[in-house]
Amino acid sequence: MSLPVFVDVQAAAERLRGHANRTPVLRSATADARAGASLFFKCENFQRTGAFKFRGAFNAIARLSPTQQRAGVVTFSSGNHAQAIALAARELGVTATIVMPSDAPAAKLAATRDYGGEIVAYDRFTEDREALTRRIARERGATLIPPYDHTDVIAGQGTAALELFEEVGALDALFVCLGGGGLLAGCALAARQMAPDCAVYGVEPEAGDDGRQSLRAGRIVTIAVPRTIADGAMTTHLGELTFPVIRERVRDVLTVADRELVQAMRFFAERMKMVVEPTGCLAAAGAFAAAPGWRGRRVGIVVSGGNVDLAAYAGWIGSG
Ligand SMILES: *Cc1c(COP(=O)(O)O)cnc(C)c1O
Repeated sequence: MSLPVFVDVQAAAERLRGHANRTPVLRSATADARAGASLFFKCENFQRTGAFKFRGAFNAIARLSPTQQRAGVVTFSSGNHAQAIALAARELGVTATIVMPSDAPAAKLAATRDYGGEIVAYDRFTEDREALTRRIARERGATLIPPYDHTDVIAGQGTAALELFEEVGALDALFVCLGGGGLLAGCALAARQMAPDCAVYGVEPEAGDDGRQSLRAGRIVTIAVPRTIADGAMTTHLGELTFPVIRERVRDVLTVADRELVQAMRFFAERMKMVVEPTGCLAAAGAFAAAPGWRGRRVGIVVSGGNVDLAAYAGWIGSG
């Protein structure tokens, strides 16, 4: 698979037109005053399925040949990628098989099923999900669409930043959350073209700083599964495609503690009336921490998703 480039992001934007939401860019006078900078929040919590992942999933499935589309797609995920693949596939008339742990939250299983995905449950303690996924792909001739290490997925995710720059013009800095790096790599491709002087930062959980380690080491560093409330960024390593793009185009990777994520979640709820999941708060928490370095400047923040377990959310919001 080839490394994605900016024209791939542009082509993805064409494919997504009329299918993905053009999400709002919101401002907050309170946030600006607190940061001493002009902040532009690109709100992917308002994307279809509640997270940016619909962009990459739709782009990747739309790019398949008719023969591949007839054979269906398969993926392994317990999170936002599963719902994104299920809905994007349904919309394109393609069958989607989603390999999910049998003990995944009932709400997530139900949402994925509601979007039309066929769920194959596995036991996360005794079964190897990647082997199971590969077997399904082989038996059915289905195409595996992974959550981040895929050219068309990266290009699709980059349309979030493309829209942001189209709407607000050049920015001095852009903060993007970082798990496996699909969103960050795609956004960095868009930034390079749309605002060449914009400093792009990835933000990952303190407990899972494999991205930062990888940038420092100049190679992909793999860590143990991190313990963090940012469940969408519990990845253990960057991808073969995301890492080279990030290494070339991202200025640095910052980390934030779970406590900062909770503060950002409370800020979004109280001041901006938005439900944002912990992973969706990474970029904002990183930008708030880095704000003294960006006084008087224009700063973009990608709010990546808003899918939360309500009971857990109530606990975080109520924890003062
Ligand atoms: C998947 C996800 C991320 C991380 O995205 P990557 O492309 O893996 O870096 C961040 N936030 C949310 C809400 C996600 O669903």
